[in-house]
Amino acid sequence: MSDQEDQNSPDFDLGQATADLSLEDIIEFFNAKLKNHNCPACLENSWTDVRAADSIHGLIAQPLNGPVTVPAPMYPLVSVSCNNCGFIRSHMAAFVLSWKESNGKK
Ligand SMILES: [Zn+2]
Repeated sequence: MSDQEDQNSPDFDLGQATADLSLEDIIEFFNAKLKNHNCPACLENSWTDVRAADSIHGLIAQPLNGPVTVPAPMYPLVSVSCNNCGFIRSHMAAFVLSWKESNGKK
Protein backbone atom coordinates (compact mmCIF):
# COMPACT_ATOMS: atom_id res chain seq x y z
CA MET A 1 0.00 0.00 0.00
CA SER A 2 1.44 3.36 -0.95
CA ASP A 3 1.19 6.46 1.25
CA GLN A 4 -1.38 7.91 -1.15
CA GLU A 5 -3.66 4.91 -0.56
CA ASP A 6 -3.33 5.00 3.26
CA GLN A 7 -6.14 7.15 4.70
CA ASN A 8 -3.87 8.11 7.63
CA SER A 9 -1.19 9.53 5.36
CA PRO A 10 -0.99 13.33 5.07
CA ASP A 11 -0.75 12.81 1.29
CA PHE A 12 -4.07 10.94 1.17
CA ASP A 13 -6.69 12.73 -0.97
CA LEU A 14 -10.10 11.47 0.20
CA GLY A 15 -11.89 13.33 -2.59
CA GLN A 16 -9.76 11.78 -5.31
CA ALA A 17 -9.90 8.34 -3.68
CA THR A 18 -13.70 8.64 -3.57
CA ALA A 19 -13.85 9.68 -7.22
CA ASP A 20 -11.70 6.66 -8.10
CA LEU A 21 -14.17 4.21 -6.51
CA SER A 22 -16.05 2.27 -9.17
CA LEU A 23 -19.66 1.09 -9.08
CA GLU A 24 -18.19 -2.44 -8.77
CA ASP A 25 -16.30 -1.34 -5.62
CA ILE A 26 -19.50 0.06 -4.14
CA ILE A 27 -21.57 -3.03 -4.97
CA GLU A 28 -18.83 -5.29 -3.51
CA PHE A 29 -18.94 -3.19 -0.33
CA PHE A 30 -22.74 -3.58 -0.17
CA ASN A 31 -22.47 -7.35 -0.66
CA ALA A 32 -19.80 -7.67 2.04
CA LYS A 33 -21.15 -5.29 4.67
CA LEU A 34 -24.90 -4.88 4.28
CA LYS A 35 -27.53 -7.32 5.51
CA ASN A 36 -30.06 -6.05 3.00
CA HIS A 37 -28.89 -5.32 -0.56
CA ASN A 38 -32.35 -4.48 -1.81
CA CYS A 39 -33.81 -1.03 -2.19
CA PRO A 40 -35.63 -0.15 1.05
CA ALA A 41 -38.42 1.48 -0.97
CA CYS A 42 -39.26 -1.12 -3.64
CA LEU A 43 -37.13 -4.17 -2.66
CA GLU A 44 -35.45 -4.45 -6.09
CA ASN A 45 -31.68 -5.01 -6.20
CA SER A 46 -30.39 -3.02 -9.16
CA TRP A 47 -28.28 0.12 -8.66
CA THR A 48 -26.64 2.86 -10.71
CA ASP A 49 -23.79 5.11 -9.60
CA VAL A 50 -25.21 8.64 -9.53
CA ARG A 51 -21.98 10.49 -8.81
CA ALA A 52 -21.08 13.00 -11.52
CA ALA A 53 -17.72 12.58 -13.22
CA ASP A 54 -14.92 14.79 -11.91
CA SER A 55 -16.92 15.87 -8.87
CA ILE A 56 -17.23 14.93 -5.22
CA HIS A 57 -20.64 14.17 -3.77
CA GLY A 58 -20.78 14.77 -0.03
CA LEU A 59 -22.33 16.20 3.09
CA ILE A 60 -21.27 19.69 4.08
CA ALA A 61 -21.11 20.48 7.79
CA GLN A 62 -21.83 23.93 9.25
CA PRO A 63 -22.14 25.00 12.91
CA LEU A 64 -25.71 25.43 14.20
CA ASN A 65 -25.04 28.67 16.05
CA GLY A 66 -22.04 30.21 14.43
CA PRO A 67 -20.71 31.80 11.28
CA VAL A 68 -20.64 29.78 8.07
CA THR A 69 -17.24 28.24 7.44
CA VAL A 70 -15.76 28.57 3.94
CA PRO A 71 -14.68 26.13 2.72
CA ALA A 72 -16.98 24.01 4.85
CA PRO A 73 -15.85 20.61 6.10
CA MET A 74 -17.18 17.98 3.70
CA TYR A 75 -17.68 14.25 4.13
CA PRO A 76 -17.46 12.52 0.74
CA LEU A 77 -20.21 10.01 -0.03
CA VAL A 78 -20.79 7.26 -2.52
CA SER A 79 -24.35 7.35 -3.76
CA VAL A 80 -26.31 4.94 -5.89
CA SER A 81 -29.83 5.14 -7.25
CA CYS A 82 -32.32 2.28 -7.52
CA ASN A 83 -32.95 1.45 -11.19
CA ASN A 84 -36.58 0.63 -10.43
CA CYS A 85 -37.83 3.56 -8.32
CA GLY A 86 -35.01 6.13 -8.11
CA PHE A 87 -34.44 5.86 -4.36
CA ILE A 88 -30.93 7.16 -3.54
CA ARG A 89 -28.79 5.58 -0.85
CA SER A 90 -25.52 7.11 0.31
CA HIS A 91 -22.65 5.79 2.41
CA MET A 92 -19.62 7.57 3.80
CA ALA A 93 -16.86 7.04 1.24
CA ALA A 94 -14.28 6.56 4.02
CA PHE A 95 -16.04 3.33 5.06
CA VAL A 96 -16.00 1.97 1.51
CA LEU A 97 -12.34 2.91 1.12
CA SER A 98 -11.38 1.33 4.46
CA TRP A 99 -13.20 -1.85 3.56
CA LYS A 100 -11.53 -1.92 0.16
CA GLU A 101 -8.07 -1.42 1.67
CA SER A 102 -8.59 -3.99 4.41
CA ASN A 103 -9.57 -6.54 1.78
CA GLY A 104 -6.52 -5.87 -0.38
CA LYS A 105 -8.51 -4.41 -3.24
CA LYS A 106 -7.03 -1.59 -5.27
ZN1 LIG B 1 -36.25 1.08 -5.46
